[in-house]
Amino acid sequence: MEMDRIFGALEAGGTKMVCAFGDENGNILEQQSIPTTTPGETMPRVLDFFRKKEISAIGAGCFGPVDVRKNSPARGTILDTPKLAWRGYNIAKTLSDELRVPVGIDTDVNGSLLGEVTYGTARGLTDVVYITIGTGIGAGIMSGGKLIHGMLHPEAGHMRLARVKGDEYAGKCPYHSECFEGLAAGPAIEERWGKPARELAGRSEVWELEAEYIARAITTLVMVLSPERIILGGGVMHQEQLFPLIRDKVIREIGGYIRTDRLSDIDSYIVPASLNDDQGIMGAVKLAIDAYEESITD
Ligand code: ADP
Ligand code: ZN
Repeated sequence: MEMDRIFGALEAGGTKMVCAFGDENGNILEQQSIPTTTPGETMPRVLDFFRKKEISAIGAGCFGPVDVRKNSPARGTILDTPKLAWRGYNIAKTLSDELRVPVGIDTDVNGSLLGEVTYGTARGLTDVVYITIGTGIGAGIMSGGKLIHGMLHPEAGHMRLARVKGDEYAGKCPYHSECFEGLAAGPAIEERWGKPARELAGRSEVWELEAEYIARAITTLVMVLSPERIILGGGVMHQEQLFPLIRDKVIREIGGYIRTDRLSDIDSYIVPASLNDDQGIMGAVKLAIDAYEESITD
C-alpha cells in the first residue's frame, strides 16, 4: 500500500462514539469521543469529525445486535437494541452515503479481537476469543483466521451458566435468568454486592465468585472452539487479581481432559487485553484497511 493513507475508525458504543484517524500501521493519529444519544444528534457530529481529513476508508466496530453479514442487504443495521432510537438505524449506510468511502463494519467485540490479532497480544494466531466484561458481556471469535458471524453473530455473553452453590442473586439479564452477562457483568456485580465493582476491590469473596463464573464460561468456549488464546478485556477485568483465580479455575474445570502445550502455559493462554483499552479503535482501523484493500481488488 502506498504511504500516508489515512483511515477513519469508529468505535460505536452504547454510551459513546469514539472517532479516530489511524494510519496503515494502526497508529492512532487523533481521537475524539462523542456521546451516544440519538442518531439525529450523534451522527452529524461523528460525520463532522471524519470530514476533517481525507480518509481512504472507514471501519466501525458497533454495539449490537447489528447486521454485519457481508452480503446482507441490511448490512450495517442496528437491530433489537434496548437503545430504541437506534433500532433499525443503518450506521454503515450513513457512513457510506455521507463520506463516500468503503465501509468495513463488525461487532464491537470482533473489532477488539481484530485489534489484538493485528496489533496486540494475539498477533499471528488464527483461533482466538476476546471476551469483554463491562456493562455487558460479549465475545468476539476468530476461527481459522476468520471473524465468526454465523446467522447473525455469536452472543457468547448470554450462554447459560451453572449457578455457583450458595449464590442466590437473581441475575440481571431480562431475557435469561442465569446467563453469563446476567450473573457476571459489572451491573450484576454491583446489584449483588450493593456497590460498584471498582469499590469492591478488597473483597476477596466478590472476585472468587466472579472468577468462578468467568472460568465456567471460558471452559465452555474452550470445549466448543478450541482457541489458541483467550483475551479478557472490559472494565471489570481491570481487577487484575481475577487473572490467577480464573486460570486456576479453568484448569480445574477442564479436569485434565484436554492436554496441549498452550493450556499447560496457562499464563499465556488466558491473558489481559494488551492495547491499553485501544484494542477496539485499533481494530476499527484494521476494518477500514481491509475495506480499502477489498475495494481496490474488486
Ligand atoms: P462499557 O462496557 O460500557 O463499554 P466498561 O468496559 O468500562 O464500559 O465497563 C463498565 C463496567 O465495568 C461498569 O459496570 C463498571 O462498574 C465496571 N468497571 C469499570 N472499571 C472497573 C474497575 N476498575 N474495576 C471493576 N469494575 C470496573
Ligand atoms: Zn442473557
